[in-house]
Formats: sequence, structure tokens, C-alpha cells
Amino acid sequence: MLRANFHTHTTLCDGSSTPEDMARRAVSLGFTQLGFSGHMDPDNHMDMNLYRNRIHALQEQYRGKIDILIGIELDTVYNPVYARQVEYTIGSTHFPDVACNRGYEGAGLQPSNGGACEPEGGRNRSGSERPLSVDASPEDLQLLADRYFGGDFYQLARCYYETEAQVYDRLHCTFIGHFDLITKFNDQMHVLDETDPRYTRPALETMAYLAEEGVPFEINCGAVNRGLKREFYPNSFFLRALHDMGGEILINSDAHQAELLNGAFDRAVNQAAACGFTHTNILVHGENGAVSQRSLPLDTLL
Ligand SMILES: [Zn+2]
Ligand SMILES: [Zn+2]
Repeated sequence: MLRANFHTHTTLCDGSSTPEDMARRAVSLGFTQLGFSGHMDPDNHMDMNLYRNRIHALQEQYRGKIDILIGIELDTVYNPVYARQVEYTIGSTHFPDVACNRGYEGAGLQPSNGGACEPEGGRNRSGSERPLSVDASPEDLQLLADRYFGGDFYQLARCYYETEAQVYDRLHCTFIGHFDLITKFNDQMHVLDETDPRYTRPALETMAYLAEEGVPFEINCGAVNRGLKREFYPNSFFLRALHDMGGEILINSDAHQAELLNGAFDRAVNQAAACGFTHTNILVHGENGAVSQRSLPLDTLL
């Protein structure tokens, strides 16, 4: 059993368990590491001072029992300054950057405006409309496709992956969160054929670009745990591709409640092995207090 998780939400953002509940649960499961990763994005951001105080108090309380890390889940289009206030950053794309990507062809996968775009999300330039993410609801996903792409979900997916290609350059994130989140509702909506090259090509271009930069990807169990999807993020096709590109992985539950802190870990370990991986990675505090990445052979977890 894998006994570490680095994608953990609490009542300080959109979770239903407190940080203290999560830490208690991690200890009861025999975890060696627990990383908190509250949301910082255009529609869901925390009081950073409160968050840091609560997690730092837990780090003190549990010192010597469990290694607690403080991170954030930061959206590609949101303010990168928050990454400097924590120990690690999940680089996630919830908001396709419809304003910045318009007319962008994707060649070279560089931001068309040098990465200086504001967190527009689905807002117009006057900021009068709420931002639209790909994972809030099927209705919002449909609205994104209709409003910006004439109802063409393949164009929306292309924009999504072009935004995601910028995540490491913008955030210098520790790992990539839920690579193909745009498929969150696809098992019910069936708006994308996930084997169609119109969908897979831009996704693979983004994956190759990010893997080349050396940033690991998480296997995210969140949607499987909540019964929303049959497959993890990334799906098995992309996970095999990542392995073939020489990419690295972490396995995370994206838990929003203590009961799911290690949800589907055994299945994810088996999935990683089936896709060719021999090890996963965890984050640890070293002797000097700095956070570093450590490799963990999968055969020790089965
Ligand atoms: Zn997320
Ligand atoms: Zn999350």
C-alpha cells in the first residue's frame, strides 16, 4: 500500500474535512508523508495566512510522527506569486485560457503574449462574467464550448491543452495535476472521442513538451473515487505515452474528505505498473528541511 498523498483539499478550500481530520486519518493509515494542496485559482482561493498557520501548527504537532508538507494547487492562469509561499506546487489547468489562446497556433508551445495574461477564464475583458472551468459542471463545460468555440469540443480541448502546455513555464510547478481533466464529464456527456487524433494530438504535444521539461505528472484518483469516471487522470493511453516519453509519476487521491485519503491507491499502483512504470515518486523533507523528490519502487507497494 502506498502511504503518502500530496493532493489534499480541506474545509479551507472546497473539501469537507478539516486539516486536522486529514492529518489524523493519515496517521491512522500509517502514512509517512501528507501534503496539503489547497486551491488557488480564479474562483476558489484560500486565505493564505490562515492556511499557512493551520498547516504549520500541524507540522509542529506531528513532528517525528508523520512528515507534513504544505503545498498549493495553483491554476495555470492564476497568479504565480503564490507558488513562492509554500513548499511545493501542483500545476493544474481548470480554466482554458480562451482570451490568451485565441488565434494561437500552438507551434513551439510558447505563450502568445509571453505569459502575461490575466486570469480571464471565461470572463470577458471587462471582468463582468464569472470564469468558466472545465470541471465545475457539465453545464459550464457546454457553455465554454458554445461561447468560445461554436460548440466544437475538439477546439475547446485544443485550447485546454495549449493552456496546459504553459503550466510549467508559468508556475515552475513541482508536478502536473490531473492532466486530462477536460474529460471529467465525458463518461456521461460523450462529447469527445478520446481516441480521435483531433483530441489526442494536441494532448500528446503538451505532454511531450512538459515531459521534456522534466516535470512529473500525477496519477489522480479523484474522479474515480467519486464515481465520476472509469479511468484515472491521465487515462491509460496517455499514461503509456508518458512512460514511453521517459516521464515520471506520483500517485495522489485528490482527496476532499478524509475517508478517501488513500482511495483507489492499489488500483493506481497496478495501473502504473501495467503502463510500464517501475517506480513512483514521493516528496519528502530532507535533513536541511528542503523538500525533494524520492523514488519508490512499485513492487514494494503491491
Ligand atoms: Zn484540480
Ligand atoms: Zn485538487
